[in-house]
Amino acid sequence: MKQLPIVYHKKILVLGLAKSGTAAAEILHDLGAFVTVNDAKPFDENENAQYLLSKGLTVICGSHPEDLLDEGFSLIVKNPGIPYTNSVIAEAKRRGIPVWTEVELAYRISDAPMIGITGSNGKTTTTTLIFEILKQGQKQPLIAGNIGTVASSVAKEASKENTIVTELSSFQLMGTEQLKPKISILMNLYEAHLDYHSDFKEYTDAKFNITKKQDASDWFIYNGEQEIVKEYAGKSKAMKVPFYVSHKTKDGISADDQFVYWNGEKVFERSIIALRGKHNLENVLAATATALIMDCSIEDIKAVLSTFHGVKHRTQFIREWNNRKFYNDSKATNALATKSALEGFSEPIILLAGGVDRGHSFDELIPYLHHVKALIHYGETAERLQKFGEEQSIPTVIRVNNLVEAIDEGIKLSDAGDVVLLSPACASWDQYASFELRGDEFIEKVISLKE
Ligand code: ADP
Repeated sequence: MKQLPIVYHKKILVLGLAKSGTAAAEILHDLGAFVTVNDAKPFDENENAQYLLSKGLTVICGSHPEDLLDEGFSLIVKNPGIPYTNSVIAEAKRRGIPVWTEVELAYRISDAPMIGITGSNGKTTTTTLIFEILKQGQKQPLIAGNIGTVASSVAKEASKENTIVTELSSFQLMGTEQLKPKISILMNLYEAHLDYHSDFKEYTDAKFNITKKQDASDWFIYNGEQEIVKEYAGKSKAMKVPFYVSHKTKDGISADDQFVYWNGEKVFERSIIALRGKHNLENVLAATATALIMDCSIEDIKAVLSTFHGVKHRTQFIREWNNRKFYNDSKATNALATKSALEGFSEPIILLAGGVDRGHSFDELIPYLHHVKALIHYGETAERLQKFGEEQSIPTVIRVNNLVEAIDEGIKLSDAGDVVLLSPACASWDQYASFELRGDEFIEKVISLKE
């Protein structure tokens, strides 16, 4: 771990604990800072706060006191989930106190170079693919972020021989100053998270922070087919690698119906790719470009691409049973994600969907319903999905009480060659604590089917 003179013997406030705040507070303490942590959760219920107090940090819990900033902090590290409209953060900004998120700390202490992946969709899949390929190529990667350990904890342990592969959300990227990944990836930009960001520009500007500090020795891989991403790419100083999923190009990484090309030269046949769908081809191209820049062999890249069937709960192939294929896309908590999943199949589909009713429209699915032979739905959205399915003339539309019943009905209705797809287009909280538990129930039931 690198020492950080700018925090040594300085008073620092860590706002919002959870996993990332707790890790950041402990690291700052180890770096010789005088750390105060402030978390809204009362002390008695707050295991993280209790732990940090036992390590000698100052702990203020249960509220965010108005006079907190009068302590004279020289830096604030905030949990990415706390919005900039929070009164303490707004006041800190007014007083000119720098506000970082934990990934900035991770970057500054890390001896290992970083590969950062952002975008509205595809971050986790691309991050995992890159990690798997680098592992196959013996490049000693470490995965951090959503699906791994907190970035600063990983950075603390990393050596020069490692490479940290981490996904970066817009929330995390808003609180960065010096963050300069060796390779940055911007997958795509869609309207998202507008409840947190004041407008779409604030959101896209935050995403651009991933390449803002990069220079001509770094790489920027981006979606060459999205106008808004191309505009941002024009401002990056890094070496640029656009990706194109719909035609062969001379520059960057591209694919036509048959092959993947690197600077216009064939690299491998598309048929070796196990992941389904055009959206996943974007993820595959971004990961392949990263692997080639990192000097992985084509053999290592192919070995992973031909066996990687998706991250858990993201159009994840579960098994084939009596000539029916079962896929778990429980992470599809909105219509856009379900649209991506439907687009990836040409087989007849039995779609299992439904959940929390946020009132959002399902219209985005309409162009992709031609091969949906049955919609089996459950949860709060029952009435709306019933109406939607009937209006779109899906041959069979059935309402059931829950996912288990939906699987049973799906099996009854299915024929050899069909795909049974859980891609709910809705959040899970009406019946499950999380989309992960919903997906786990699907996996368990499907695995237990007897031949
Ligand atoms: P993220 O980490 O950005 O949420 P994931 O890799 O977890 O993305 O994928 C979440 C869902 O988004 C998937 O189930 C899939 O339906 C959709 N998706 C994945 N990759 C892409 C992409 N490149 N473009 C559009 N949608 C995608």
